Order: sequence, then structure tokens, then C-alpha cells
Amino acid sequence: MISALERQRYQRQIGIKEVGEEGQERLKAAKVLVAGAGGLGSASLPYLVAAGFGAIRIIDQDLVELSNLNRQILHWTEDIGRPKTASAMDKLGRLNPEVDMESFQEKITNKNADALVGDCDLIVDALDNLSTRYILNRVAIEKGIPFFHGAVSGFEGRAMTIIPGRTACLHCFYRGRLKGKKTPVIGVTPAIIGIIQATEVIKYVLGTGKLLTNTLMVYDGLSATFNKFKINRDPNCKACGHLPS
Ligand SMILES: [Zn+2]
Repeated sequence: MISALERQRYQRQIGIKEVGEEGQERLKAAKVLVAGAGGLGSASLPYLVAAGFGAIRIIDQDLVELSNLNRQILHWTEDIGRPKTASAMDKLGRLNPEVDMESFQEKITNKNADALVGDCDLIVDALDNLSTRYILNRVAIEKGIPFFHGAVSGFEGRAMTIIPGRTACLHCFYRGRLKGKKTPVIGVTPAIIGIIQATEVIKYVLGTGKLLTNTLMVYDGLSATFNKFKINRDPNCKACGHLPS
């Protein structure tokens, strides 16, 4: 049930026919894991929190650095040296105290990933490296929960929504490893991609609209274009090939 105060807070979105009070209750019942409180997380987190998801878990091992601040707008100059989790929790808690938030300042590994995802209903990929994405892609498949992929570089970004057993997973089209070097990026790119991820999460929980499943959406800021590429599920995929189609 949503309270009178919540009804007021979310009034403008409850008024959308795809949301309504029932949709708002669905958002409130959902527990979202956001893996990464960097550029992508700085965009998706405030909107997920503002939308009234019931519970949000944030994982990030890093401390705020000066070089983060061109894009990670959840963190401010005064936060340099603090854990990103603490900095994010501070601001988000003030944005919407109705949301039950928790954070873990940990590196996601093959060993701890299952426990870190815990009872979350879905995973937002706000990471900056492919190896950790593979770990969460695997855990999402094992738990049968959706995985909302996002990645950025320069003026370009991409997003895809993965529903294990039903749609292509990350491994179906990403192969091998990428070098671990830091990718240069302009702050507006993770902002756009993070908000697309948040939109996908909202649509998924509401059960409305058409998701970016089996579809890689590629945004090019320089030409101001969005392109969609069809991604087929690979029956021999190492991660999801064992699931029935
Ligand atoms: Zn796959």
C-alpha cells in the first residue's frame, strides 16, 4: 500500500495510465541492485530513487576522485576521498527518504557476487569493466532475474536489456576481454545511457512498453542519433546456452 504522502509525491506519475496506483505499488515492491555508483549510476540512481522503488542496493568499491567529477554528478568536490557508496547514499537519502537504501563498499567477484545480489529483483549494470559485467550476467542467469546493460565511451553509449532464458545475454554478443584501461568519456554520455537504463527498469517492473531485449541500442552523441541493432540469442552461448529457448 502507498501512503497519503507517497500518493502526493508520485502524483504526476500515478496520473500516467501505464503507472496508476497499482504501478506505483509495483515499483514500491521492487528491490533494485545498482552495480556501480560512477557515471552511469549517477544518472540512473536519482531517477530510480525519485520514482519510488521500494528498495535500492548500491555496490561500489571506489573512493571519489577529482577525475570522477566531470561525469559522476552524484559526487561533489567536497566528497573527494569518501567512499562513493557513502556519498551516493547521502544525496539519494535526502532526495527520497521513502526508499529503503543500503550499500556495500566492495569489489564484485565471482566469490561474493551471488551474496551481493542477494534477494534483489533485478540488476542495473552501471559498471566500467567487462569482466565484472560477465560475473553479474552469470548471476542474473542463475537467479533468473533481468540484467540491464549499459556502457559508454567518449560521445557513444549503448544499452540492452537481458531477460535470462528469453532473450540474448551479454555473452551472446560480447566475446573475450577488453583491456582494463580507463575509457575517456564526456559526462553527458553516461547521463543519457543511465537514464535509458532507468527507463527500462521502470518499464520492466510496470510490465509496459517494449524493452530493449534482443536489441542493442547505440547512441552517438556526435551525430545525435540512436540506432538499434538486432542481437540473436546464441544457442551455444557459454553463459545462457544451457537454458531452454
Ligand atoms: Zn547468452
